[in-house]
Amino acid sequence: MKKFSLFLVVLLIFGLTACGAKTTNESSKPVVYASFYPIYDLTAKIAGDKAEVKTIIPQNVGPHGWEPTTKDIAEISKSNLILYLGMGLDSWISKIKDSGTNAAFFEVSNGVEPIKSGNVVNPHIWLSPKSAQIIAKNIKDALQKTDAKNKDYYEKNYEALNGKLAELDKEYKNELSNTKQKTFIVFHSAFDYIARDYGLNEISLVGMSDEAEPSPARMSEVVNLIKKENIKYIFREEPGPTKPIEVISQETGAKILPLNTIGALTNEDIQKKADFISLMKENLDNLKKALE
Ligand SMILES: [Zn+2]
Repeated sequence: MKKFSLFLVVLLIFGLTACGAKTTNESSKPVVYASFYPIYDLTAKIAGDKAEVKTIIPQNVGPHGWEPTTKDIAEISKSNLILYLGMGLDSWISKIKDSGTNAAFFEVSNGVEPIKSGNVVNPHIWLSPKSAQIIAKNIKDALQKTDAKNKDYYEKNYEALNGKLAELDKEYKNELSNTKQKTFIVFHSAFDYIARDYGLNEISLVGMSDEAEPSPARMSEVVNLIKKENIKYIFREEPGPTKPIEVISQETGAKILPLNTIGALTNEDIQKKADFISLMKENLDNLKKALE
């Protein structure tokens, strides 16, 4: 009996030591926070196992209207590197900057030509493969500055990712250049950068935030446009409100297809292990179907 409890004590001590060693090991990696899903996914692909990458906004929560709690700010400010989009979408980042943190901050939209409506910049740059490539380059530069000893490792992962993004850009260009229809209808103007970069025309029911409600006047404008241009498909956003799109579908007979804003993952996305690039490919398939 005595022997047995001694054995237990030894096991316990050994267990604790092993645990302690693991924690030290993990904390030697830089901790990197990305403000929301698409930045998180691209960062995780470049960082591989050399950094601990986390997302500030939970993966299944969209970026519009989110604010960090005091607890979030305290936790995030302990990290080494914070990557945020900029363009007004994650402007709450200033609260973390003001917390007295030692973390480095990088705005990953640097270098993307913005689309403006009046003075307001449309922040949905990640949905165009062209700007996704600029975002990936900025993320790589930030990781290399923060963790110089793994510079070559990050470079290699970045090259692989950038190859896939360049391929995606080529597919968007090839598939969307010869479509019969050029106009596509969505709920909020999240797809402006696809429209600009690949020669399409996006019509949205509301502006840059999916938290707005479409006006009856806008609804009937869009209904008339669908009838006039004989548009066969309209898009419901994934994730996002579906009701106004259903109403328009019922009034016009236009069929509904999904188009993913990739600002967050849906439960279905998580289940099928989707990532940024696979969702971008699904978007291209659905755009092609709608515009043919
Ligand atoms: Zn949006």
